[in-house]
Amino acid sequence: MVADASLLAKLSGQKRVKSFLTRAVEGGRAAHAYLFVGAPGSGKLEAAWALAQALLCEDGGCGACDNCMRAARRTHPDVHYYTPESATGYLISQTRELLEDVALAPIRAKHKVYIIDRAEQMRANTANALLKTIEEPPKTVTFILLGTSTDTILPTIVSRCQCVPFRTLPLDESAQTVARATGVDLARCRMAVAVTGGPNAAIGFLKSAERQEARRQMLRAIDMLKRSDEADILLSVRDLLGVIKAPLAELKDAQKAMLDRDSDYLSRGALKQLEDRNKRELTARERSGIMEALACVRSLLRDVLLLVQDDAASIVNEDARDIACRLAEHATCTGIVRAIEAVGDAEHRIARNITPQLTCEVMLFDIRKALLCP
Ligand SMILES: [Zn+2]
Repeated sequence: MVADASLLAKLSGQKRVKSFLTRAVEGGRAAHAYLFVGAPGSGKLEAAWALAQALLCEDGGCGACDNCMRAARRTHPDVHYYTPESATGYLISQTRELLEDVALAPIRAKHKVYIIDRAEQMRANTANALLKTIEEPPKTVTFILLGTSTDTILPTIVSRCQCVPFRTLPLDESAQTVARATGVDLARCRMAVAVTGGPNAAIGFLKSAERQEARRQMLRAIDMLKRSDEADILLSVRDLLGVIKAPLAELKDAQKAMLDRDSDYLSRGALKQLEDRNKRELTARERSGIMEALACVRSLLRDVLLLVQDDAASIVNEDARDIACRLAEHATCTGIVRAIEAVGDAEHRIARNITPQLTCEVMLFDIRKALLCP
């Protein structure tokens, strides 16, 4: 029985998903592969962990046993979480590692769960190797794939999974969830949800002084554009990247300590593999910090667009209303739309591994041009 203390029972915001999954678990009719589809921030990952907990617990999710506790802390060794390790998608080595692992017996529970995030980033070469396993996994294995839309996921994958649609949560509903969890005022929660895309990411953002500082730096750089020459722009980008990279030093140290500890008994090949993975993790973290800073710019520019049409408009970045108003004073709608396009271009460049410094400089020059010379 799915108990009240389980993650599944506590799932909020997705009533239909919750009752669908609860019925499947209680009826012993869980599928071997699920595809959770919905917008970022609709709670797919939380639901995946909730389902994993219910499948791993011998009582279907009591919320209290060792399996349930470990799943609730997201540290259960029989739940494997995968996310693309390169900017362009899943690596073949990741698929290979997953397939090798599927063949092994569970460690603590009687069941294993594989959560595969951003399933749209599985391209044909990596997905093909997985198809047969997803179609007929060992009886003790369940796959949960997460994606934003079935249109962007390979049809051969979609057809092998039970699809579960998630509804898009309205901004205010998400902001209220964040406010309840953090005690932060509603206006700031709305901003955090708008920037990060969902309630859980927003909670993480509001708890991180560094990420909020990166936003401040980014907004300041935009605010100063009118008075900035090229040297100012280069400097402000350098400062911004410094803030984004600062927390990575800690991760780097932790990685190095782990390598030193393992270097005695790992083969040279295994060490090299570990080093490569560490490097990819650092790059991925830096990239997501920059993407977040870009999301802050986009969100601010949307507010500017609203203010150009109505200077009393309700906006998302209430704490930066003065900046948004200053920008709105000189800008035209066409100019702001062009500036928003410049943010989109920057996102594409980052996704294609173009250096962050250059990408952000180009974006700021483009935004300055779009806002000041309409
Ligand atoms: Zn349990």
